[in-house]
Amino acid sequence: MTKRTILLASPRSFCAGVERAIDAVDLLLTDRPEPIYVRKQIVHNTHVVADLESKGAVFVDELDQVPDGATVVFSAHGVSPAVRDEAVRRGLDAIDATCPLVTKVHSEAKRYAGRGDTIVLIGHAGHEEVEGTMGEAPEQTVLVENVADVAALELPDPDRVSYLTQTTLAVDETAEVLGALRAKYPALRGPDSADICYATTNRQDALAAIATEADLVLVVGSANSSNSVRLAELARRHGTTAYLIDGPDDIEAEWLDQAAVIGLTAGASAPPVLVQSVIDTIALLGPVEVVEREVARETVRFHLPAAVKQA
Ligand code: SF4
Repeated sequence: MTKRTILLASPRSFCAGVERAIDAVDLLLTDRPEPIYVRKQIVHNTHVVADLESKGAVFVDELDQVPDGATVVFSAHGVSPAVRDEAVRRGLDAIDATCPLVTKVHSEAKRYAGRGDTIVLIGHAGHEEVEGTMGEAPEQTVLVENVADVAALELPDPDRVSYLTQTTLAVDETAEVLGALRAKYPALRGPDSADICYATTNRQDALAAIATEADLVLVVGSANSSNSVRLAELARRHGTTAYLIDGPDDIEAEWLDQAAVIGLTAGASAPPVLVQSVIDTIALLGPVEVVEREVARETVRFHLPAAVKQA
């Protein structure tokens, strides 16, 4: 049987913000005897959520499902001030696992709104991070997803416009939307570089470096993980068939029939162990050679939330 090659994109899998959020819940579960509630999925990955649930974490959609006075963790995607206020009103012990890079976007939103600008947020409707960021200045923020949305924009003062972006967007698509915004609003202001985070950017660069060489790309990640979905789309834009899989059980044998070279990566919320399981599963079908292609080395680490450190 001919040997298959697995091109392993690097960096891939967990980012610093995801590790911090998972560690925070893990440590709270160890340190505190009372139930630990988590508002929304701590990170968008079914395996991570199932693992923490098995250790006792209780995931809820909204704070009204959390008993008064209980401990609740806010997910890595961040929350709006309205949610924070509700937690204070309810006497909840709220622990904020928002990724510091999302918190930075919130700070920018407050600053831009404070100077009287309309904020154009480039992002995906309904994503928790977008809801949290828009909540900083709901009256002054409008959401655009694409160039057509920019064309349809009508803003009160074209000279007082700032932009922000969701942290997990496709770099190339966002550049297009930003270009359209700049063309329409020449006085546009915003962050020095778009807020797409280092982890999202690195994972896209790493995949772009292997996508055209591969006959097939597998992206490990959950369907509601924005950065994982973007990776599968990126591979397809490079002309390569790509599948988003939660883990090895999702692989269909016929995908691999004609695939001599398989590109493999994982979104920032997908555990590294799943990537190894995918390799092991492919290896069951015949000999494989794994070749890792590293485009960047990540050294970013974030401190745990203060309340967790104290615990
Ligand atoms: Fe933070 Fe980026 Fe990871 Fe999101 S993907 S948690 S913004 S580092």
